[in-house]
Amino acid sequence: MKTNTELSLTPPVKKTITTRVVYELDGQKKEKLHTHISTGAHGYEALCIEGSTGGENKTCHLISEGALPVTCPECLVIWHDTQAFSKEDFEPSLQQL
Ligand SMILES: [Zn+2]
Repeated sequence: MKTNTELSLTPPVKKTITTRVVYELDGQKKEKLHTHISTGAHGYEALCIEGSTGGENKTCHLISEGALPVTCPECLVIWHDTQAFSKEDFEPSLQQL
């Protein structure tokens, strides 16, 4: 993660990633194909994190970038929850970014 001195906030650009997550549940192979809001907060990933990480019995494949509409329900919940905050809700040193 970037330190405060390296971080600067530029106007947001509408970015998405479409990923296919393959995982095992109760011994059965399942897959989720969703288009997520993309953020560069930790590099390059889905807003919900879930859509861009692998793990035990789970793989994540990037299918495309820039597609709409967003189809991930978790990304919708996170996007909705952030609407309640304004820049003034962050500590003053961060508001300078
Ligand atoms: Zn998502």
